[in-house]
Amino acid sequence: MGRQSASTPWQNWARTAHATPRSVAHPRDLGELVATVRGATRAGLRVRAVGGGHSFTPAAVTDGVHLVLDSLDALERVEPRPDGTTHVTVGAGIRLRALNALLAEQGLAMRNLGDIDKQSIAGAVSTGTHGTGSRLGGLATQVVGARVVLADGEVVETSPTQRPELFEVARLGLGSVGVLAALTLEVVPAFRLEAREEPWPLDAVLERLHGPDGLVDGNDHFEFYWFPHTRRALTKRNNRVADDDVRPLNPVRSWIDDELLSNAVFALTNRIATLVPPATAGINAVSSRALSARRYTAPSAEVFVSPRRVRFREMEYAVPREHIVDVLAEVDAWIESSGERLPFPVEVRFAAADDLWLSTAHGRATAYLAVHQYVQLPYTRYFSAVERIVAQVGGRPHWGKLHWLGAEELAGVYPRFGDAQRVRAAADPTGVFTNAYLDHVLGRVPQDEQAPRAA
Ligand SMILES: Cc1cc2nc3c(=O)[nH]c(=O)nc-3n(C[C@H](O)[C@H](O)[C@H](O)COP(=O)(O)OP(=O)(O)OC[C@H]3O[C@@H](n4cnc5c(N)ncnc54)[C@H](O)[C@@H]3O)c2cc1C
Repeated sequence: MGRQSASTPWQNWARTAHATPRSVAHPRDLGELVATVRGATRAGLRVRAVGGGHSFTPAAVTDGVHLVLDSLDALERVEPRPDGTTHVTVGAGIRLRALNALLAEQGLAMRNLGDIDKQSIAGAVSTGTHGTGSRLGGLATQVVGARVVLADGEVVETSPTQRPELFEVARLGLGSVGVLAALTLEVVPAFRLEAREEPWPLDAVLERLHGPDGLVDGNDHFEFYWFPHTRRALTKRNNRVADDDVRPLNPVRSWIDDELLSNAVFALTNRIATLVPPATAGINAVSSRALSARRYTAPSAEVFVSPRRVRFREMEYAVPREHIVDVLAEVDAWIESSGERLPFPVEVRFAAADDLWLSTAHGRATAYLAVHQYVQLPYTRYFSAVERIVAQVGGRPHWGKLHWLGAEELAGVYPRFGDAQRVRAAADPTGVFTNAYLDHVLGRVPQDEQAPRAA
């Protein structure tokens, strides 16, 4: 069954979720994983896999067996496709940093990524992790096959054509139908991006956001950070360039921007804002100008990913793209009337509509609004106010970030939510893979051994 250790207290990166599992298992291969799951089910224990622990919610918490799949990190198969893409099968426990390196060795890359690489691929896709780009979907849209270990130890290969309904919930469903042992990803030839980062007046960003040549559709990847208490934003435009367009960032400049200003000085400004809240607006005004414009090219993964050393809490909501300007205006008005002092910028990103059942971008072109709070400051009042604002436009919370919605409300914003519940009940009728959080957001498993098998 691989290395098993007795109960070790666990907490997530954000210190918002804690667990004391009965045991922690480190299976070294598929056989050991199957034996561990089967043994736990026979013993009547619950099972949760944990990746990088970078979700802000208790999604990975268990009182039973915690599965650490760091050893399931191998490259299994590379299959070039006639359309120029490549299907790559990897162990589901691989961290994104290792995955990006391994793909680069093969001359390949993920089409799009989020802004860090500490997560496991399984954890990232299970929570709908995404980057930005109005013609692109999140990481789970790049999954074309999933090997799942069910509660009885059965190993099932799923894809759009093999057990397609199980595949739907396996590739984005909080690990609620089973343990992901391997994933097949559709990746593309390695590419370089030109990063163009500039501080802008917020109003100029909002005016130029939409339209065919607007910031969102006129760039491969556009996002911006708005600094509350100011009308300033930091814009990021990342676009594909030719492979021989090599204009690297000066290493000293890179260190000043990415380590000193974005992490060390940012940690200090957050501490000052915590001790002297009235100073926050002034600090934000300085911060929004401190990062001066820069332009460089680099391999895609290096542009997407940034170090994040200042610990924070986060809530992120997906809203129909056409509402983002109004939503921001309401959030701004609430902040100013509330007296809250917020040292962290608000991040806005974009994604194409997709058809994954539980994707936050299901069926609609999407804008993501992410609000953050420094780890030492309270976040509940701010985040719940933003949650009330986005509820008016059918907001859908990120599956890995903080929110207060339950299954009933989520069913109202996901047209295929009932299908996902049905497939989950069929795949895991006795709730081996559940916990209190999953019961809250996905609904309670009916505990019915006779539930029909998922297609
Ligand atoms: C600093 C920071 C930056 C972030 N940036 C982004 C971003 O740019 N974009 C974005 O969308 N999100 C972002 N996130 C959120 C993050 O990508 C997700 O929360 C993601 O799930 C974390 O992956 P993980 O490996 O840490 O998973 P965990 O948090 O460990 O687990 C997440 C879920 O996946 C399940 N799971 C893990 N492994 C398996 C498996 N093998 N089989 C079945 N289920 C499994 C767990 O049980 C749990 O339900 C960020 C989070 C942090 C803390």
